[in-house]
Amino acid sequence: MNKNKSSMRLDDYEVNKEIDCLLKRQTAFLENISDVVAIMDKDGIIQYKSPNIKHLFGWDPQDLVGKSGWHTVHPDDRDRLGGIFNDVLNTANSIAQAEYKYMHKNGNYIPVRLTAKNLLHVPYVNGVLLNYHDISERKKMEDALEKERLQLSHSEAKFKAAFYTSPDSVNINKLNGEYIEINEGFTKLTGYTEEDCLGKLSSEINIWTIPEDREKLISGLKKDGIVENLESIFCTKDGKHIPALMSAQIIYINNEPHILSVTRSIAQRKKNELALIKAKEKAEESDNLKTEFIHNMSHEIRTPLNGIMGFSKLLQKPKLSDDERTTFTTIISQCGEDLLKVVESVLEISTLATNQEKLKESKFNLHQLLQSIFDSYDIKAKEKELNLYFKQSPLDNEEAIVTDKNKLNKVLENLLDNAIKYTQKGSIEFGYNTINENIEIYVKDTGIGISPENFEKIFDRFSQEDKELSKTTGGLGLGLSIAKENATLLGGNITVKSEKGKGSTFILNIPYKTS
Ligand code: ADP
Repeated sequence: MNKNKSSMRLDDYEVNKEIDCLLKRQTAFLENISDVVAIMDKDGIIQYKSPNIKHLFGWDPQDLVGKSGWHTVHPDDRDRLGGIFNDVLNTANSIAQAEYKYMHKNGNYIPVRLTAKNLLHVPYVNGVLLNYHDISERKKMEDALEKERLQLSHSEAKFKAAFYTSPDSVNINKLNGEYIEINEGFTKLTGYTEEDCLGKLSSEINIWTIPEDREKLISGLKKDGIVENLESIFCTKDGKHIPALMSAQIIYINNEPHILSVTRSIAQRKKNELALIKAKEKAEESDNLKTEFIHNMSHEIRTPLNGIMGFSKLLQKPKLSDDERTTFTTIISQCGEDLLKVVESVLEISTLATNQEKLKESKFNLHQLLQSIFDSYDIKAKEKELNLYFKQSPLDNEEAIVTDKNKLNKVLENLLDNAIKYTQKGSIEFGYNTINENIEIYVKDTGIGISPENFEKIFDRFSQEDKELSKTTGGLGLGLSIAKENATLLGGNITVKSEKGKGSTFILNIPYKTS
């Protein structure tokens, strides 16, 4: 019996020790977990708060126990949280989770994550079990991530706006040349639309006129990751070749390297450069021509002047025969005429250059004019043993036209002078045809001819095809330019057909006006 009693006491002692141990463990546990544990009754009154609330949120449990749990919830979160709490109250064992802002004793709100479980039916609890913990760190990280995401989407939006609105051609390709994206500038420059090139390789649409340029681009990108102002020529959809400057760099899309290229046409710049070079060459050429012109001038003036002075002296000699006197005076008057022509040419070119020449139109018979020109030039041709033909038209005598007779006469004289000057043997023929609204007057010779590459140049002021020859034949290189400018004043033009060594035909085309 005694033995039983003492063994009973021992058992009680053991049980009490175990209960004590359990309580201490639970207390230690509740003090140290990062979640605050609380019990709230169905009316929202706090029945229990775990002691760790002190160091997590500053409150002593007795500050809160017996009071409404809602005043520590941020006013903005109360309605939402109240709804969740009511749902939980409806069903035994039901669980809900929520995030809201919990008030620290110092008045600051701290974001927390709450789990609530309906344990109203559980003895010793008889309420809703709440456990919540501080999620400030997680929120901070989420906010930072959100900020980063926003910044990224902002810069993506900016990039997209720049990409699509850039007036330059912008395109993104994979490293193998496959098109991923192009903008409107690309379509404007190349003619290729998205349908034409997205998913295709640049080599498939043959956009590089010089494929080695693409290799240059790739090797530059491999070396430095960026290539600036690579000059190349791109082939457009309709086969045109456009010079352009391309800058490119490697960018990463979904961690994969891509090439972002920006290209600008330099066709206009090239054109301007070319025009500048041409203008410079022309200026240099005209400078040279002017120097030569001055040399020619002095020769062209000196020769007849020497003639006039030399033969005037001879005329002073006593005892001249009549024949000698006639020869000398003829030479003097010929030299005078030559000199006059030089002076007239120079004066005329300067009045033409300053647009001072005026048209004086009149009605006259073309046939008669050509006939009189023939009469005076026949003598000159004969002096060189050349045959001069005036090819008569069937309508000859009726061809009355309205134009500036003087200028027309001058143009034809220039052409005939040249025909005689540049023909050593053979013949010269001139005549006219009426073609629709125009009259074509041609001068055809069997002379030295002109190379096709000089067909345009010979009409420039001071230009001569063969400088050496001109030294012997004479001339200032002004006749054709005067003729051409006069033809333009008459509303027409002059063209030339010629074969070197066989002869030339100059054709004056003017409007056929009869009134
Ligand atoms: P130039 O005073 O040198 O004759 P032009 O202006 O009349 O000047 O002619 C320019 C150049 O055109 C000449 O120097 C010559 O080379 C060439 N030319 C003009 N007419 C003829 C022609 N009928 N046959 C061959 N060459 C010609």
